[in-house]
Parts: sequence; C-alpha cells; structure tokens
Amino acid sequence: MSAPVQAGQSAAEALRALRRQIETAARSAERDPKSVELMAVSKTLSIDAIAPFIKAGHDRFGENRVQEAKSKWPTLRQIASPAPIRLHLIGPLQTNKARDAVACFDVIETVDRPKIARALKAQMDAQNRPLPVLVQVNVGEEPQKAGCTPADTETFVAFCQREVGLDVRGLMAIPPFHEPPAPHFALVDTLADRCALPVRSFGMSHDYACAISQGATRIRIGSALFGPRDPAKP
Ligand SMILES: *Cc1c(COP(=O)(O)O)cnc(C)c1O
Repeated sequence: MSAPVQAGQSAAEALRALRRQIETAARSAERDPKSVELMAVSKTLSIDAIAPFIKAGHDRFGENRVQEAKSKWPTLRQIASPAPIRLHLIGPLQTNKARDAVACFDVIETVDRPKIARALKAQMDAQNRPLPVLVQVNVGEEPQKAGCTPADTETFVAFCQREVGLDVRGLMAIPPFHEPPAPHFALVDTLADRCALPVRSFGMSHDYACAISQGATRIRIGSALFGPRDPAKP
C-alpha cells in the first residue's frame, strides 16, 4: 500500500509513485483522484531533505510543531518563491503559541477547544491574516489524543463559526492506531456532512487507501513519501 522513497529514488519519482497509488485508490473507490489533496508531512526532516520535494513542484506540507516549522519554513518558502507554499499545522496547539502559529502557517487543522479558537481568531485579526481552519475530532475518544468528541463536534463547529468568526473548512482526525480505521473515517465523514463542511483530513501512510475509500479529501503522508522517520525524534 505504501511507497516509501527507495534508495536512489528522486523526490520527483517518489511523488509520482505515491500519486499513482493515490489515483489507484481513488479509482477503486469510484472517486476523482483530483478530489484528494496530498499533504506531505515533513516533521523532523531537515531543510535539505524537504527542499528536493519543493523543487519537484510539491507545494502542500504539514508540520506538527510550531517552533520547528518556524525554524525551517522561512528558508523553504524562499526556495519555493515565487510559487506559494501551503503549510498546515497538524499538531496540538497551546494558546501561547497562537501568535507564531498564525504567522507561520497557512491552514490550522487542530482547533479543538474554545480557548484556542478564540486565541487564533484574536491573532488572525491582529496580524490581518484570516486563515482557514479545521476542527480536530478525537474520533476514537482516546484520552491521550487532542480533539473534540464526536458528540460535541456539531456544536463546537457552530461555535467556532458563529461565536468566534473562524473560517472552518472541515474536520481533521487521527483514528486509534490499533483499531480498523474504516468506521472511524466513516464517522468523521458523516460528521462533516452534518456540519456541511467540505474538507475531510484523514489518512496517513499506513491507511490512506482506506481513508480515500471513506471520503478523505486530504491525506497527510509522511513516511510513505520521505521514508521512515528517525525514531529518536517525535
Ligand atoms: C506524522 C503525522 C502524519 C504522517 O504520518 P505518516 O505515518 O508518516 O504518514 C499525519 N498526520 C499527523 C497528525 C501526524 O502527526
């Protein structure tokens, strides 16, 4: 299912191989491959490791730590320039990092509680940077994971839109690692329908084909594109 970068394989080849597999998964789900966006998750990777993927034309990336993104992406955006990069925050966010998150990212995918929703909106107003956001759903209701509960999702999305004034585009989720993902993906898809939100961000290296079959419109791929991460790093 996954196509990790082979030794000697170029970034362009790795991207092509992965795109082919995404197309196959989309076709077998009777979906248009263009309806699935590919986010390359570049957390823990160095600027030198990421740059070839930018030079190969990829423009959508995800990082899970604000500090790390802040140290890497100004340089990487210059490498991409004049082409724009779309950088997504996919890790948990503390309110004291809201300022840096709004300055550094183009999409925030991990809005999951009123306090962070308000902090982000205040920073977007202060910096005049109105960013699209996703609400993160803790779809397996795991105590260690961020996200609002499935039962609270509709109320929280409405709160973000009406009370806070955020531009909520969709839902993001990470299903429990040791359970079959399909029912979890299906639940997030249903919740997004109920909230009338178009974006469904779910599916990683090990389960993206399943995610595509369950309605993912954005998959977040790290190791299947870049190769295995250094296990010493988070
Ligand atoms: C690391 C990460 C990914 C990508 O994981 P892979 O298994 O390497 O594809 C996707 N989403 C989130 C939230 C992550 O933290």
